[in-house]
Amino acid sequence: MGLIETGSSQDTAALAAGPLSLGDIVENGLCIGCGLCVSIAGAGEIEMVITPEGRERPVARQALDKATLAKINAVCPGTRIAGPPPAQRREARLADTVWGPVERLVLGSAGNPTVRFIGSGGGTLTALGQFLLDSGRVKFVLHVAASRSMPMRTERRLSFDSASVLEGAGSRYGPAATLVDFNDILDRGEPFALIAKPCDITTVRNLARLDLRVDEYMRYALAFVCGGASDLTKSEQVLERFGLREDELSLFRYRGHGNPGLNRIETKDGRAFEISYRQLWEDEDKWMIQPRCKICPDAIGQVADIAVSDSWLNGGPAVEDEPLNGIIVRTKRGLELFDAAVETGVLQIKRESGMAEISELQSHQVRKRRAVWARLTGMAIAGKPVPFVSDLALRDCAVQNSPADNLAEGRGARDRARRGRLGEPPAVPRKIVVEDERR
Ligand SMILES: Cc1cc2nc3c(=O)[nH]c(=O)nc-3n(C[C@H](O)[C@H](O)[C@H](O)COP(=O)(O)OP(=O)(O)OC[C@H]3O[C@@H](n4cnc5c(N)ncnc54)[C@H](O)[C@@H]3O)c2cc1C
Ligand code: SF4
Ligand code: SF4
Repeated sequence: MGLIETGSSQDTAALAAGPLSLGDIVENGLCIGCGLCVSIAGAGEIEMVITPEGRERPVARQALDKATLAKINAVCPGTRIAGPPPAQRREARLADTVWGPVERLVLGSAGNPTVRFIGSGGGTLTALGQFLLDSGRVKFVLHVAASRSMPMRTERRLSFDSASVLEGAGSRYGPAATLVDFNDILDRGEPFALIAKPCDITTVRNLARLDLRVDEYMRYALAFVCGGASDLTKSEQVLERFGLREDELSLFRYRGHGNPGLNRIETKDGRAFEISYRQLWEDEDKWMIQPRCKICPDAIGQVADIAVSDSWLNGGPAVEDEPLNGIIVRTKRGLELFDAAVETGVLQIKRESGMAEISELQSHQVRKRRAVWARLTGMAIAGKPVPFVSDLALRDCAVQNSPADNLAEGRGARDRARRGRLGEPPAVPRKIVVEDERR
């Protein structure tokens, strides 16, 4: 397997003798745990497990046939990552090498003060989800929310009303298998919207090439700009800090209820614990971001109708900021939705923004967009499989770096890949620790 350079829209090409097995995808650090392969393989063929590392990963119960594997390889966000259609980029009001096609770029938030407060940043995604339901554009919203029985875990949620959309507000930084039963969702034959990570939307757009029902029923895809999903182990470290066990929890909120709001934990017996967002993320060595995120070619939601980011105008989340989002409207469909939401007061605009401002507010995303081509090239030189990436201008982004920087990125990735540091162990379920074993 290797990587070749080709025409302008094709950023990488993974040359494989045949489809990668699930084990190959996982062990080469390409899986993000979206769950779509479970839905594709059908009942009982694959199960999602939480691994000892705290990642949600697929495990095949028996060897998958070649046709199923080929389909998984065609849709998995670890093997195929396509950007927006070239026509969208050409016809967009603004098009930027790093930021992709943009119809409108503003700073804004939810109009409703409760949504604005409860939402992760300014509640924009929640407000849009509610508006899609209330205006009859969709029958339900597919997103995620804290598990009701194990609130540190995240589950996919179907919301049929505004209250349920609000329950899912906030960022869930740990594993989240949004697409685990996506085929059943299409089987409902009802219009819906997806609110999810950029890679979830990549996955569903991949599926749309094979399954016409995706474009028929999924009317809107909304994403947040994403710095990476952490392992559940990251959340468990917070519990350790307070000497808590997961089975004691009644609430685990990463943020929201302010911008960014506190990481708040409540227990069934009425105790409450809080740390700030800054404390949660203060030590970069302990971010525990999943391997796939480090080579993410589109963490900025280029294939969404609208992508929503944080906007900390004070330079970072050092203190509580005003509730606010960057709102990147990417498609004409997204623009119609955005305009209608503003007109009805569902969203409020603070002011217009632009590429220079968003690049400053999201400088880590700019750095990553510029680094990914060299990282993937380094992995390929090390003989590791890399995703097939197209229409994401990765090489054009890399050209914005100096040759020396690209060389350093590429060599670093090559060496880490050779040492196995970009991969992960085979997926096995975690051993359940019973209370007696802890003592
Ligand atoms: C893992 C992660 C990394 C992030 N990194 C960045 C970043 O680098 N830069 C940045 O600007 N913003 C980042 N954010 C996004 C930011 O925290 C806000 O979610 C975003 O600005 C939208 O704010 P909001 O107020 O509109 O969201 P809300 O109104 O609170 O709505 C958030 C929506 O996202 C859904 N959601 C939350 N977590 C997940 C998940 N893990 N998988 C799928 N769907 C989910 C919820 O179900 C909800 O519908 C990240 C979020 C997450 C979860
Ligand atoms: S990224 Fe999704 S589709 Fe690909 S292997 Fe992982 S869970 Fe399956
Ligand atoms: S950084 Fe990319 S791969 Fe990781 S969770 Fe975000 S969108 Fe998915």
